[in-house]
Amino acid sequence: MSIVAVGAVAYDTIETPHGTVSGALGGSLSYFALGARFFGPVSIVAAVGEDFREEDRQLFVDRGIDTRALVPRPGKTFHWHGRYHEDMNIRDSVATELGVFGDFMPELLPDQRRADFVFLANISPQLQEHVLSQVFSPRIVAADTIKFWIENDLAGFVRLMPRIDILTVNDEEARLLTGEHNLVRAGRAILKMGARIALIKRGEYGVLQFSPDSMFAVPAWPLEEVVDPTGAGDAFAAGVMGWLVRSGGMNESILRTAVIYGSVMGSFVVERFSIERLLALTWEDIERRYRAFIELTDSHYSRWMSQ
Ligand code: AMP
Repeated sequence: MSIVAVGAVAYDTIETPHGTVSGALGGSLSYFALGARFFGPVSIVAAVGEDFREEDRQLFVDRGIDTRALVPRPGKTFHWHGRYHEDMNIRDSVATELGVFGDFMPELLPDQRRADFVFLANISPQLQEHVLSQVFSPRIVAADTIKFWIENDLAGFVRLMPRIDILTVNDEEARLLTGEHNLVRAGRAILKMGARIALIKRGEYGVLQFSPDSMFAVPAWPLEEVVDPTGAGDAFAAGVMGWLVRSGGMNESILRTAVIYGSVMGSFVVERFSIERLLALTWEDIERRYRAFIELTDSHYSRWMSQ
């Protein structure tokens, strides 16, 4: 089983209180793919421009990511410039240049159309829908979006909602999408809009999961220092989808474990700039932090009891 994912492959300029990087490989899809590949095969669908560096494609290939549908097109690679405030929960998009994504409507390869798991990373809702409509009968579809698309194509995203099993949005996006300030109401409203499950990401405060019959909450892994929050949401989605693929499907119990793996993946990304931490990561690192995460939230604390 594999994941087919569409989203942005970008060159980013990122400013945080810890420094600035420019020309850094990023984009929602890069973060997602470099995280999800630890859990199962990932096939990416995106456009890149003439300025896209061969070594960046190789970086995906070397990690087993299928780039057959990473299409080179005349023009420039998507460019995003983000600036974080001292409070890194707040960021401004200084520039968003779509470049080759302007009118990109790809045809999926025959094997991609048979995908069981589909991830629609943050990109235009039109492109997300175009990709999804080519997949014959996906078992699980997850999607993400950001303020930019909610503000620029709300109707397009709302149309997509009934086809989404798992929607991942942050608190600000959930409020904007639903018009509800309270996050419990916003979570419920997302389900009413058609998504089966809502995962609301709250940065350093963790994640809220809403399903029709239950709520689940996990904290964020406590870190002494956050260097660059970019891509945390995409890496979170990578852990969630990754665990579902590894488990071969979804029920409430599998989903809860997936949300913890998602939180683990998100916590790694923010430790360094851009995709750096994902590149240095090992499966052992992931498992170690997963176990530490379980211990962090274990109210029975069996180790303490036996001492
Ligand atoms: P996240 O921090 O999870 O929102 O993801 C950040 C990534 O999203 C960056 O690497 C950007 O290249 C990408 N990005 C920023 N704005 C957009 C947009 N409007 N559409 C698609 N991707 C974007």
